[in-house]
Amino acid sequence: MKLKLLLLTILLLPCMLIAQPETPIEEWTGKTILLVGAHPDDDTMSHGTLSMLNENGNDVYILLLTTGNVGTADPDMTRHQLAKIRRQEQLDAMTELGLPTENYINLGYNDGMVEFADREEVVKRIVYHIRDLKPDVMFSFDPGWGYQTWHKADHRASAYLAADAARAAEWHLIFPGQIIQDGLEAHSINEYVFYDSVDEAVNYRVDISDYAERKWNAATKYISQFNREAFNDYKGPNPEDYTNAEEYVERMRMRVYERGAVDGVPHESFRYYRGIPDGMGTQSSHY
Ligand SMILES: [Zn+2]
Repeated sequence: MKLKLLLLTILLLPCMLIAQPETPIEEWTGKTILLVGAHPDDDTMSHGTLSMLNENGNDVYILLLTTGNVGTADPDMTRHQLAKIRRQEQLDAMTELGLPTENYINLGYNDGMVEFADREEVVKRIVYHIRDLKPDVMFSFDPGWGYQTWHKADHRASAYLAADAARAAEWHLIFPGQIIQDGLEAHSINEYVFYDSVDEAVNYRVDISDYAERKWNAATKYISQFNREAFNDYKGPNPEDYTNAEEYVERMRMRVYERGAVDGVPHESFRYYRGIPDGMGTQSSHY
């Protein structure tokens, strides 16, 4: 059994190693990039790379499934208030990164409930944006590669729904109303950059040194999420409104400079996949 596994690894390793972009991500230009995630802040794992891609002349869109209207321990917070706060945090973070705020799309689902939403409807709505924006590249939670990756609620739904939507978008007889009535076209995405991948699956690391400061500044905008005091008792969007302001900003800085650093250099790590959507999660040589 062990020998079988070893042989399988030897056979499959080259497939994984050659799964590299024809042009390095750092040199991409003129591409349309669509990130799909569940919450306002899921995109933080890719912020350095997205900022770089935007600066290099690519169009970057962020599509999030939920408003994030549950992520708080503040007993006085309402869903409506939190949805508004998190929308503003998202827009402020995008501004820090240099991303156009009009490229933010939110499907408005309730935080924590994506798995219980109507799957066909969620997929259909993602497909609509795929057919509308025609992305060359999708960034998404990693659905896994030859196995299913466990993510927490909403993240795992996002991983699979994004994958399902990428696949559905290319078939013109799926959701044909979008084509017949809305004038859209079937669209196939052939490059994928998966974030939140397990270490063994990571096959591409982007040096984000030049964008680390922007990433750090953007991270400080998600104060309702990343500042413990604000999470428990939200007072406003400024770090100065909290007694731990200095420590908070420093923690965000450390997070960018140390978490994910390779030889002390800030990096973001991904699993890159090129090919038809059907093959994004399989080790089969069929695709
Ligand atoms: Zn999340």
